Amino acid sequence: MSRPHIVDVIAGDGIGLEVVPAALRCVDALAEQFGFAVTWRDRDWGSERYRRTGAMMPEDGLARLADGDAILLGAVGAPDIPDDVTLWGLLLPIRRAFLQYVNLRPVRSLPGVPGPLSDGSGIDLVIVRENVEGEYSEIGGRIYRGRPEEAAVQETVFTRRGVDRVARFAARLAASRRGGLTSATKSNGIVHTMPFWDEVVAGAVERINHSGPETPIRLRKVLVDALAADLVLRPREHDVIVASNLLGDILSDLASAVVGGIGTAPSANLNPEREHPSMFEPVHGSAPDIAGTGIANPTGQIWATSLMLDHLGESTAAAALLAALEAALASGVRTRDLGGTAGTDEFTSTVLDHLTTTT
Ligand code: ATP
Ligand code: MG
Repeated sequence: MSRPHIVDVIAGDGIGLEVVPAALRCVDALAEQFGFAVTWRDRDWGSERYRRTGAMMPEDGLARLADGDAILLGAVGAPDIPDDVTLWGLLLPIRRAFLQYVNLRPVRSLPGVPGPLSDGSGIDLVIVRENVEGEYSEIGGRIYRGRPEEAAVQETVFTRRGVDRVARFAARLAASRRGGLTSATKSNGIVHTMPFWDEVVAGAVERINHSGPETPIRLRKVLVDALAADLVLRPREHDVIVASNLLGDILSDLASAVVGGIGTAPSANLNPEREHPSMFEPVHGSAPDIAGTGIANPTGQIWATSLMLDHLGESTAAAALLAALEAALASGVRTRDLGGTAGTDEFTSTVLDHLTTTT
């Protein structure tokens, strides 16, 4: 057996404390089945720690994570704590310190998960969102001294290096799938930064196509307004979508709503070069309204954990976990958010049953 994977576990707040243990149960079963080992490092960071000490994580928190292989996050946040404390106290420092410049959001129809479309089956796409630059730059401010109520500006920053690396990641991903790459743009209205984005994305794709990939990439650049409509009207026509920080933020929430359910969607914050740990989390938050009642849907957390296993090189185990999750949902055992009656534990046990029967 190779050395254990070192995974830092930040269960965080609310239902994070319920869905993370569910995911760990699955990994422990997989580790035995597939012969790998994980060393879990529990981090009791989050709102409770903030109330006690005034900080979400210890001062040397980033240094403690730095030598790990991955971070498994539940959810951080609570109604009594301002959103920017949650963001700046934990999530953004981790994302930035570890150069997690790709936010990966797989979007797939799951069996028995109802969405708003009359036929929501067969949707299988991935959104690759640029995660560290772009529209969320903090450069700007109120422009009239003494009259801050009058006007504000904020700059978008795209660098060649920043756009090129996320475009290359998305293009390679597309080449390993069906070969389709949609680049979200708004170059008809935003006339400096978006044409630059288009140019750098096209260059990256051309270079990869030139190197002769197994599946040549078909790049389409689509205005984001039309793309938003497309995701509702023709979601099956998309394979990989690459988008800037803001556009990707909006498109990924839209796309996950189309396949139904905040409780089911996963997200990965990746440092593709593996020079730093990557972070895996469900899309949902701490859900204070249902926390502590044992009814949270662990699907998003378990799916995120499958993405983590894949990133750690345990791709067979990752695929087995996703298959067991889909089989559990298909079997009709569902949590309440999906119209069922199962609690977190019962649903997780069903996933575990399918792990041992499908592999
Ligand atoms: P945060 O500020 O942490 O993002 P939030 O309340 O804004 O929290 P979510 O925590 O994502 O957002 O919750 C939104 C709604 O979806 C809530 O009603 C919550 O109960 C429900 N929800 C979210 N995740 C799940 C889940 N895993 N299982 C069941 N219901 C969920
Ligand atoms: Mg929220």
